[in-house]
Amino acid sequence: MPEFALLAADRADGRENSQAILTVDLDALADNWRLLKGRARGAECAAVVKADAYGIGLRPAAKKLLAAGCKTFFVAHLAEAEFLRDIAPEARIFALNGLPPGSSALFARKNLCPVLGSLPEMEEWAAFCRAENRKYDAAVHIDTGMNRLGLVKPDFPRALDLLDAFTPALIMTHFVSAEDASAPRNRAQIERFEEACGLFPPMRASLCNSSGMFLEEAPVFDLTRPGYALYGGNPTPGSDNPMNPVVSLEAVILQVRDIRAGEAAGYNARWTAPSRRRLATIGLGYADGFPRSASCGDIGADVFAGGAWCPVVGRISMDLSIIDISDAASLKRGDRVEVLGDHISVDDLGRWSGTIGYEILTDLGRRHKRVYVGGD
Ligand SMILES: *Cc1c(COP(=O)(O)O)cnc(C)c1O
Repeated sequence: MPEFALLAADRADGRENSQAILTVDLDALADNWRLLKGRARGAECAAVVKADAYGIGLRPAAKKLLAAGCKTFFVAHLAEAEFLRDIAPEARIFALNGLPPGSSALFARKNLCPVLGSLPEMEEWAAFCRAENRKYDAAVHIDTGMNRLGLVKPDFPRALDLLDAFTPALIMTHFVSAEDASAPRNRAQIERFEEACGLFPPMRASLCNSSGMFLEEAPVFDLTRPGYALYGGNPTPGSDNPMNPVVSLEAVILQVRDIRAGEAAGYNARWTAPSRRRLATIGLGYADGFPRSASCGDIGADVFAGGAWCPVVGRISMDLSIIDISDAASLKRGDRVEVLGDHISVDDLGRWSGTIGYEILTDLGRRHKRVYVGGD
């Protein structure tokens, strides 16, 4: 968070600020982890906390998950892993993006586990372990269809030679379309992964991300790796969301005005009032993670305020947006509107913006007043 945003953090109510208020419900995060752990049917349930715990804050999220009993964490980068190591001295920490050149000693010193995803990474880790005369742990990433990270079949013979040099702690792969239960790819990936597991020496195995954990056909193996669902995202798009919402975002009304039919609002006058309308200007824009694209497409975002849906009108600008409050006409300066919360999920705002809830979460602004509920 930029330092100026901290200035607002101490003010009790937030009404004195024009900034939006982002509330992170850490109890809901812990409930979601327990719910997912229940779904893991005896396998271990880890937590994916990359990208600052999907935007909600790595430190508070990790502390809460540790307190709930989570022992294994996945991040993307080495720097995230190092940061997490200070918060979680005992936890098992995997870095999904693998082994950057020359970083083996740092991984080993901090007891961090790289997820090795290519032969060059395996060669480097194996050479390091041989030089140190010690078999450090690493995970092995198998590519079963993403073509992004991971070993492919022709790599296996060489990989099997290299495995002798270190302790293979985990074999894993990642689904391409787990959120689509009807995708035939899911089954093909499961089969390829099972085949790879059979070719490698016995070690713990991990397949499922959030949506994977809700695929009936997907075995849980030894360890599951949910991220999005922990933060309240729907792992089963098209069906009810089994998860508890974790983030809510409220913006503040800065002013209210009435306009006549035919008047335009916002940059480039892209919206014209069809009739007499009451508009409110809120202190939230694309620099706060309210995507400009939510005011450019066919659907567009609504906010919820005064018991009514209030559509965004005109273009979302950097720091401000305009909403039509004609159906909630008693709203006034200083009132708050729901941008994310009980009525509006991260999945909704993602859909309205032509993206996914994941991106809404990871783009959550840096200048909100942040309130953590259920922390220590
Ligand atoms: C991000 C990620 C996850 C978590 O995925 P969600 O869909 O957020 O649950 C799991 N595994 C890998 C390899 C990832 O990159």
